[in-house]
Amino acid sequence: MPSSSTAAADTVAATAVARQAPVLGVVVPCYNEQEVFPETARRLAALLQGLIDAGRIDPASRTWFVDDGSRDQTWSLIEAAAEQPAMRVCGIKLSRNRGHQVALLAGILTAKGDVLISVDADLQDDLGAISQMLEAFAGGHDIVYGVRSARGTDSAFKRLTAEGYYRVLDRLGVEIVFNHADYRLMSRRAVEALREYPESNLFLRGLIPQLGFPSTTVAYERAERFAGESKYPLGKMLALAWQGMTSFSAAPLRMITALGMLVSVLSLGMGLWAFGVRLFTDAALPGWASIVIPLFLISGVQLLSLGVIGEYLAKIFLETKRRPLFFVDRLVRSDTDPVS
Ligand code: UDP
Ligand code: MG
Repeated sequence: MPSSSTAAADTVAATAVARQAPVLGVVVPCYNEQEVFPETARRLAALLQGLIDAGRIDPASRTWFVDDGSRDQTWSLIEAAAEQPAMRVCGIKLSRNRGHQVALLAGILTAKGDVLISVDADLQDDLGAISQMLEAFAGGHDIVYGVRSARGTDSAFKRLTAEGYYRVLDRLGVEIVFNHADYRLMSRRAVEALREYPESNLFLRGLIPQLGFPSTTVAYERAERFAGESKYPLGKMLALAWQGMTSFSAAPLRMITALGMLVSVLSLGMGLWAFGVRLFTDAALPGWASIVIPLFLISGVQLLSLGVIGEYLAKIFLETKRRPLFFVDRLVRSDTDPVS
């Protein structure tokens, strides 16, 4: 039986640990994730409890689920979880579906904590890496990128296109961490720096390396989706890829210029060739190729150029509006305000 003085000492020690340990906020965007939510919430609660027991994070640490306008039971599940203190769940309900990147930003800008970790709801990203991320944070890194060491569970198509995509971005001069999705740790000051970016064409993977704080990577193995279907069909994925290329680089514009020059030179060559054919042979329908082919070619190039220019114009148009990106519809918390 401990004497009162040791009990008091214990309390002091516990407070000291609590003061040192950072408040962690785990941010999880969810869109129609009722199949995986219970398991994800359960695993994250267990993980937080373990880290709290080990004195590595503050007991005020929470998981922040962002409901991105789900049409299924996701929000009611989040609300129910938030009523159970042991789950350490906070819920953010967006007023409508705004897409993964915006949901993520909404979570990051709303969640409390000295350090935030964003992770998908489907348990594809190994939660075990959170411990290593916190270690890296304690070691003085403001941003820790989760990097997939193996993509064995992704289809060959996804692997190939992803690999090619990262290379293209690299070539275009976009600073990007290879094989990093949106599983990452950010310190409070990195989050506050991110808040300063007013752009609405969001591609966080390209934006965050620009913050420039000390950063490192942690490798993990990507698993299969735990349950449910991918909320990222090919169309959405292509849109994100295009966003990444045109939001961070004007290279596509310059490539069009280069292409225009190349086509002009080729047309000149073709003109000379047609001239030669006319002079030295008696081939049928002279002039057909030299008229029709360039016509098609140049129309194509013009359309392509217009499309690219239009894309940038659209971006300027959207950015100048300064539209708010999201509205939080409702906010629930496990208990009273965990962090003042
Ligand atoms: N997501 C979202 N809003 C959307 C689409 C997806 O918040 O409009 C979330 C989704 O719930 C998941 C994460 O984004 O937590 C990644 O989606 P998913 O796992 O379906 O993508 P994949 O891993 O198949 O690329
Ligand atoms: Mg997934």
